[in-house]
Amino acid sequence: MHPLLKKKGFVIDIDGVIGRSVEPIKEGVNGVKKLIELGKKVVFVSNNSTRSRRILIQRLKSFGLDFGEESIVSATHATARFIAREKEGAKVFTTGEEGLKEELLNAGLKIVDYEDAEYLVVGSNRKIDYDLMTKALRCCLRGTRYIATNPDKIFPSENGPTPGTGMIIGALYWMTGRMPDVIVGKPSKVIMLEALEKLNLSAEDVVVVGDQIEVDVVAGKNIGSTTLLVLTGVANKSDVERSDIKPDYVAESLESLFS
Ligand SMILES: [Mg+2]
Repeated sequence: MHPLLKKKGFVIDIDGVIGRSVEPIKEGVNGVKKLIELGKKVVFVSNNSTRSRRILIQRLKSFGLDFGEESIVSATHATARFIAREKEGAKVFTTGEEGLKEELLNAGLKIVDYEDAEYLVVGSNRKIDYDLMTKALRCCLRGTRYIATNPDKIFPSENGPTPGTGMIIGALYWMTGRMPDVIVGKPSKVIMLEALEKLNLSAEDVVVVGDQIEVDVVAGKNIGSTTLLVLTGVANKSDVERSDIKPDYVAESLESLFS
């Protein structure tokens, strides 16, 4: 038996591990099913900043995986939870899309225009315009507490790379010299601690699984968990050899833990 199968819980990345956008990765999906059969606790963590958990649940369903909201930590959800813990019912202004707004409202936060905002929440938005950037700029200039859903610069889509949340973070930095006060998504500890809370396990009892060294492996190391890099997504063998950051384990896929 693979030594990782002695661990109680698995924190699993979605894109590049169990799916590529809307297409399932068979070996990843089978791997999850086998972990569940073994009685392992599983939580999925995604840096996606435009999707609510509800939408991610539907995607998992389309892959043949049946999980509820308690098993999903998205950057949208973790951001909302982080702010609600800091200030219950806080007034937030966001650059984000409906998926992010849905999670902010779910957490009891109030979405307001920029003049009244106690928090600026920056998340990706495929329809961002001059007006929205002006409002975000003014929040930055007046010193509003600034939270970013995730640090991703580029988001891979079916037809090639597209701008990630980094597009907005970068523009605000160039205009004001401000970087976010807190970044929630991986490799940040914020989203990972939320995942551990969902599993009700401590860091040493879980394996953090992902396809990107600087994102998933670093996130796992940041909380002191064992890390597994799978080669079904972004990173390949030569990336692992070149990188100074070494995952504890490397596998062709999640399912290869069982072979
Ligand atoms: Mg990934």
